[in-house]
Amino acid sequence: MPDGVTHHKIHRKSWPLAVGLGAFFLWSLDNVPMEHLCASLLGLCFSGQLIFSLSILFGYFILGRYISPDWDCITINSDEGRILREIPLLGILIVSYSTLYGSIFRRMHRSLWTHFPIVSTFIRWVFCFWWLYALLWRFHVPAEHVLIPSTGAFIGLSLADILHYLADKITKEIR
Ligand SMILES: [Zn+2]
Repeated sequence: MPDGVTHHKIHRKSWPLAVGLGAFFLWSLDNVPMEHLCASLLGLCFSGQLIFSLSILFGYFILGRYISPDWDCITINSDEGRILREIPLLGILIVSYSTLYGSIFRRMHRSLWTHFPIVSTFIRWVFCFWWLYALLWRFHVPAEHVLIPSTGAFIGLSLADILHYLADKITKEIR
């Protein structure tokens, strides 16, 4: 199977896919009535379509850079190494938490639950962000302000996970 460095290289080099996907949604959702999301603090409003497309890029580039199917390894993998190097202090907390994921799924390395696209992405999504939804719900953030960006980001992260899955599969078949 490809190591973490190879996965990361594939992730970096496949950026046109994420940009294309973002552009595709921006174009295809054009006629779909979507809310304008306004940031009350800044007084700025953006179309739902734009937020959705930017969230796809955020999900692919930012979340996909740090959250990967290989969190199911009990050892510190290269994604977690990146978290520690690039996110000072908070990174330590994040990696402690991702290690919990590794210990829960340690016997399921590259299984359906940790590697299969969409299914495993959804499980990691809930594992990573349940607290954020709880906070948003607690502070009565309007549903569309939560749904539009999180669906976009989920699609972006799913794309990163699909590439990871394919790389694992293809190299297994070559062997
Ligand atoms: Zn893997």
